[in-house]
Amino acid sequence: FDGLCVPALQGLRAYDPGHDLVAWRRRVGPSLVELGSNENPWGPSPAARAAVLDQLHAMHRYPDPLGGDLKRALAAKHGVGLEQLILGNGSHELLMQLAQVFAGAGDEVVASQFGFAVYAIATQAAGAALRVAPALPRDHATMPRGHDLDAIADAVGPRTKLVFLANPNNPTGTHLGIAALSRFLERIPPNVLVVVDEAYAEFVESGESALSLLASHPGLIVTRTFSKAYALAGLRIGFAVAHPALIAVMERVRESFNVNHMGLAAAEAALGDGEHLQWGLARNAEERTRLADALATRGWFVHPSQTNFLLVEFGARAGAIEAGLLERGVIPRPMGGYGLPECLRITIGDRDENRRFLDALDHLA
Ligand code: PMP
Repeated sequence: FDGLCVPALQGLRAYDPGHDLVAWRRRVGPSLVELGSNENPWGPSPAARAAVLDQLHAMHRYPDPLGGDLKRALAAKHGVGLEQLILGNGSHELLMQLAQVFAGAGDEVVASQFGFAVYAIATQAAGAALRVAPALPRDHATMPRGHDLDAIADAVGPRTKLVFLANPNNPTGTHLGIAALSRFLERIPPNVLVVVDEAYAEFVESGESALSLLASHPGLIVTRTFSKAYALAGLRIGFAVAHPALIAVMERVRESFNVNHMGLAAAEAALGDGEHLQWGLARNAEERTRLADALATRGWFVHPSQTNFLLVEFGARAGAIEAGLLERGVIPRPMGGYGLPECLRITIGDRDENRRFLDALDHLA
């Protein structure tokens, strides 16, 4: 039926989640070490679990289409207005929606090489063309393969409607400071919207966020998610923060009940449990340092990371190492789709999972 698709969708390849995790869970059982999807191994706040159970009685009712309670909590936490917020079924939905709303046939969208895979899909699905700005070189001192903001700004042309930029970036794990981001925004014409995808913002040690630039840049959109640091990937809650007029336009295509009772309640409860969040972030930072050191000691090149994953370069052995890890019940994320077949992306697991990953790796070496 490819020929029956609207032209923009012809030949488009669906998002590749890496491995069939359900099949692997069946095959290996609970000992499976899942390091392929940047999930949080420590799980959500107990308050979020309780909030989900509390919603079970309401399954036959539609959820609040406005997500008012969660939006109020988010507005208070981030110091923004309610009308600056839109909720999504994960931030993935919002990224798709942004391209759908602001880019179409004849338009261009700019993203960086080694940028998140969804930007290309969202752009093509919208009928627009993607311009890819080259990333920084592999041997860059602080941001190997990270975003080159000058190259991104240079790629913006008269047809550009939208720029997608993840900070920190997936899959490189690299992070741009707020001063550099601010200088970059000054270079972007006012009729070009810039989406800063902050799916991993909570992991950034300095606490910097593009949210602080919203007041001075009306064309800036910041997307966030509850899937990573808040450990609610399965409940699918993301949000975007932007100028109220921009949010109003996005609301036109939002599916009426795109986020559900349980996700709304869990996200609100998770937001209220700062202690649990900080505990998980500390565990992640500690394990990330241990894992990065262990891999570097073994001679592998590890990209610096301000996230809950590491991009590791295994050279020509990457494919064999991936197969060997899978055989031992450890799931990494292959990077061929990103043009990095020599790398694997490894999510930071808990202490035991990381040890089992390293053990499996040592058996292969
Ligand atoms: N942006 C980035 C950079 C991501 O890595 C991900 C998830 N892998 C997402 C957005 C989407 O996450 P979600 O839809 O779960 O919010």
